[in-house]
Amino acid sequence: MDREPLKLGPADLVREEILALRAYHVPAATGMVKLDAMENPYRLPEPLREEIGRCVSTLAINRYPDPAAPELKTCLRETFAIPEECDVLLGNGSDEIIQIATHALARPGAVMIAPEPSFVMYKMDAVVARMRYVGVPLNDDFALDIGRFLAAIEEHRPALVFVAYPNNPTGNLLAEDAVASIIEATPGLVVIDEAYHAFAEKTFMTRLGEFPNLMVMRTLSKLGLAGVRLGYAAARPEWIRELDKLRPPYNVSVLAQFVGERLLAHINVLQRQAERIKADRAALFGRLRDLKGIEAYPSDANFILVRVPSAEATDARLKERRILVKNLHGTHPLLANCLRLTVGTPGENDLLLAAMAESL
Ligand code: PMP
Repeated sequence: MDREPLKLGPADLVREEILALRAYHVPAATGMVKLDAMENPYRLPEPLREEIGRCVSTLAINRYPDPAAPELKTCLRETFAIPEECDVLLGNGSDEIIQIATHALARPGAVMIAPEPSFVMYKMDAVVARMRYVGVPLNDDFALDIGRFLAAIEEHRPALVFVAYPNNPTGNLLAEDAVASIIEATPGLVVIDEAYHAFAEKTFMTRLGEFPNLMVMRTLSKLGLAGVRLGYAAARPEWIRELDKLRPPYNVSVLAQFVGERLLAHINVLQRQAERIKADRAALFGRLRDLKGIEAYPSDANFILVRVPSAEATDARLKERRILVKNLHGTHPLLANCLRLTVGTPGENDLLLAAMAESL
């Protein structure tokens, strides 16, 4: 008699720590005012879109991309003043660079440290790479508790530290001196994640020469190319050489390389949009502060964190008004009743404020 061979399912075969993970949730956004994902709300000017459209038709998409992407790297170096002595790593979004650095440094027993709350993918990638993750809580006002952070470095001797600068989801820039002392004290690699650099006045890019264990990572997503998926990191060649071995060779497509290059040639367009968003952030912040019952936290990014009496009630009212924001309640004790609001167009910000006011 034929017997069915014994089959094992995902519950038997997938690693336990992955079975226990929750997937990064992206809610459906059709027809919504989308203020949940820190996107730039502005499209490109029509002539630039047409130019890109025309050129895309000439690209050889039957060929794999050049994995070294020399033209794109040259454009990035020139546009963002990447120090000459550093090499550049390209990612399919900076998400991929976080993954690459984590996997490269996940020797058995190795530790990753990051402030908390911060970008959730640091911890998620640590779990997947079987790296031990240690989160160091920020103070109640979301400033670094530098004594506690340095003590954690001393105790755990991390191979990898992530500091988002400005921080997501709190929006603030952690104190530069404190971050510098973290880089100095860390025995391993420190990645300063400058995803929101376009909206902040500060950077560690100019300080790469001071620290042999520093990597500065950025993305073009928040500047207006979230759909293209292009992130980059700069560090000393000996770091990039090793990390580059983990990069899938064709991770940045022909289309992404081309669009990246074209837009870097027109970076002033994106920078003007970022300036606009910064001005609108100031206006939105002032008006949020005027609403009774809301605490709005100062931001150096393109979003504002607020605390409301009931995040659930406010989020529900916003959804009724077809406005999507990020409800952070329950994700970390410091974020009780917090919502993260991406700065939209002035019209979108008006809709948001009106719905927030109704919900209080
Ligand atoms: N770092 C931080 C701090 C972020 O908030 C994000 C996106 N939310 C990323 C990295 C990843 O962005 P991307 O993959 O689009 O470059």
